[in-house]
Amino acid sequence: MNRPILASIHIEAFKHNLNRVRTLAPEAQIWSVVKAAGYGHRLESVLEGLADTDGFALLDLRDADWLRTQGWQGRILLLEGLFSANELTEALALDCDLVVHCQEQVTLLEAFAAHSGHAIRIFLKLNSGMNRLGFAPTIYRDMYHRLHALGHQVDHMTHFANADAIDQKPTVGEQMDCFSKAVEGLSGKTSLANSAAILWHRTALGDWVRPGIMLYGLSPTGLHEDIAHANLKPVMSLTSEIIDIQHLAAGEHVGYGGRYTAPQAMRIGVIACGYADGYPRHAPDGTPVWVQTNGTGVICPIAGRVSMDMITIDLRNAPDAQIGSQVELWGQKVPADTVAAAAGTIGYELICALAPRVPVELIRKS
Ligand SMILES: *Cc1c(COP(=O)(O)O)cnc(C)c1O
Repeated sequence: MNRPILASIHIEAFKHNLNRVRTLAPEAQIWSVVKAAGYGHRLESVLEGLADTDGFALLDLRDADWLRTQGWQGRILLLEGLFSANELTEALALDCDLVVHCQEQVTLLEAFAAHSGHAIRIFLKLNSGMNRLGFAPTIYRDMYHRLHALGHQVDHMTHFANADAIDQKPTVGEQMDCFSKAVEGLSGKTSLANSAAILWHRTALGDWVRPGIMLYGLSPTGLHEDIAHANLKPVMSLTSEIIDIQHLAAGEHVGYGGRYTAPQAMRIGVIACGYADGYPRHAPDGTPVWVQTNGTGVICPIAGRVSMDMITIDLRNAPDAQIGSQVELWGQKVPADTVAAAAGTIGYELICALAPRVPVELIRKS
């Protein structure tokens, strides 16, 4: 038998979450954001589960190439555009839309246009206050006119820094004001909203929304409670099994550094999942793990440091658990956001870090 760890990808949950985006942004077209191998879910999963999207947004040409090879004929947006001049030919051969966010990219397109009449679909990126990618409002219009003069289709894009927060600056309202001024009177479609804006700022959607995390059923804030109202379904379940059980006497320690000390005689379950699978090494004692029992299953807390290939849990809540009992590390019973919060991070980081060594299975029933 193989090592029992498995990431199950619930295809129906992908379809459900994409429909939720359609309901929340009925007028908009959808760039499903699938960078980082579909937030760790693998490209084959998103291609099947999100097949009804209008386009996929990603970073790497090799991912665009893979989607085209599989027969994807919809749009593909390169979220960071071209990294070097030699990517242009391939990007066009793959019929990608390009984000243009810096002068070097504009110059590159001008040089290219000198010997090619190829019209390109561009999303020109405005830095409306996040100060990461994009052109300052003072030069944005100039860039627009330069690209437009080359005969390209130029649409407008910006990204919100704080659509998941209240009153943190720059606010969505401030960024929207900046955007409206910058694009005033210019033709072209707009792309504004990430998941947080789709959930909480539906006056700031634009013609193309860019949901990422909500498609995977997690919260933009990293707090599972925050998306309770949105009726999203977690797509990934990371499961494994108990592969050993230790019987401890009171006062004995568990694992590296002896972080956990048994307060009484108790059983410790050893699970085949560690940080080399993507489980956060910083998960403290008490982080919840769901264990299948003869009843409906119970939550057992982590006891002892997470190691490369294993975690250890306190089995006092699960007297009938045994070697071979199923566990869920995150997914349906324990939200990934909850595990992440215990470890001081957000669900995004956990799912994106799912290790290549973890096998992935696509589950097609609901
Ligand atoms: C990653 C990304 C998104 C998706 O963000 P979520 O918070 O996952 O919805 C949208 N737009 C851009 C430019 C991104 O880089």
